[in-house]
Amino acid sequence: MLSNDELGLWDRESFFHPSTNLGQFARGEAPQRIVTGGEGVHITDRDGNRLLDGFAGLYCVNVGYGRQEIAEAIAEQARELAYYHAYAGNGSEVAITLAKMVMDRAPEGMARVYFGLGGSDANETNVKLVWYYNNIRGLPQKKKIISRWRGYHGSGLMTGSLTGLELFHKKFDLPLAQVIHTEAPYYFRRKDAGMTEEDFSAHCAEQLEQLIVAEGPDTIAAFIGEPVLGTGGIVPPPKGYWDAIQKVLARHDILLIADEVVTGFGRLGSMFGSDHYGIKPDLITCAKGLTSAYAPLSATIVGQRVWDVLMQGTDENGVFGHGWTYSAHPIGAAAGVANLKLIDELGLVANAGEVGAYLNAEMTKVLGDHPNVGEVRGEGMLCAVELVENRDTRAFFDPSAGVGGKAVAAMLKRGVIARAMPQGDIIGFAPPLCLTRSEADTIVSVTAEAVREVLGG
Ligand code: PMP
Repeated sequence: MLSNDELGLWDRESFFHPSTNLGQFARGEAPQRIVTGGEGVHITDRDGNRLLDGFAGLYCVNVGYGRQEIAEAIAEQARELAYYHAYAGNGSEVAITLAKMVMDRAPEGMARVYFGLGGSDANETNVKLVWYYNNIRGLPQKKKIISRWRGYHGSGLMTGSLTGLELFHKKFDLPLAQVIHTEAPYYFRRKDAGMTEEDFSAHCAEQLEQLIVAEGPDTIAAFIGEPVLGTGGIVPPPKGYWDAIQKVLARHDILLIADEVVTGFGRLGSMFGSDHYGIKPDLITCAKGLTSAYAPLSATIVGQRVWDVLMQGTDENGVFGHGWTYSAHPIGAAAGVANLKLIDELGLVANAGEVGAYLNAEMTKVLGDHPNVGEVRGEGMLCAVELVENRDTRAFFDPSAGVGGKAVAAMLKRGVIARAMPQGDIIGFAPPLCLTRSEADTIVSVTAEAVREVLGG
């Protein structure tokens, strides 16, 4: 077996890690963790640590680690038929079964599901569907996509543009011209403008409408949003937000893409975030929770009004010219089928709602009054603690102080993984949906100790 030193060197000298400070990593100045195993909500690493993963990888290992049912389904599929493509009407029993299972669980009004590899490619597919849709309808100028600041939709050329975080644009010549951003539904900072939640939702809807009118409604094709902002800070929508936004979209013939990569398949305590908030999307993006990350797979669920036009388009123009080699990959599909069965059998959607509510309530009880906690917020199995310098004025810390990162590092020392969200000093939690109350207690007590270590109180 390779020594840790040897493996660490290979890692630094060979491996280009995503979303990493490259120079620091190459010089050995940044953390390096080599993960070796996982069981339930815990992972183990080569240094012998056993860590409670409070972020389920990247909010994706929803059923928890080490599920033998899924591993066996993958192995069996690999032995039987590791791959055949899905072009030109081809398929596999397992991909067809998964399509049926997804459609059985999808919100009302959905017509078909298209499979890809990850959240980014599923959103690329969505944008292409939207453009195709408007071309077939004879509206070739109706192409711009509106997303929100703080939204996260991937890191491809188009999807990195949709993402509303500067880090994903800077020095990459993004966003592309067809993408425009509108205000994030981030109420925390708006309370000081004397707005109620409902006022703020109305304000967001007004901002959106002004943007649409200024650009010209006949140039705007779609609006994309996560039911709960994820990477932008784990921000549930203010009251009335989705209702107000959908009214604006309906007035201007604009499609709605619900990016449910994080919220799909149970994380909010409902099968989909769209069900949870009464959202009626035209397209839904899924990935992570579809296979609990046991294999890469994404899904674009297409609503009836878009589907009808797509069919008309191919009647007029022939084959729909969009596909990936690995669309509906049988191994991903096998993981998906076994994962969705497990979610049902273990009642994980309900558990996400119940234990998630407990986690949020306990976190609020223990840290809600801390002088440097501006807000504890969450929904279902999502929770965030936003740290501020001054609780009354909601003044942020100087970002260079890295307070959020320090708190997360102090948690890691105590055996719990949380995520320092990239925008602000926000400690984020998105544990596996199988979390128990006692594991939630551990997360809360470790968070409180870490916040006190870094900030006192
Ligand atoms: N949409 C959302 C809401 C996401 O959170 C993510 C990933 N965090 C993506 C899209 C992109 O998914 P992927 O990284 O699989 O491309």
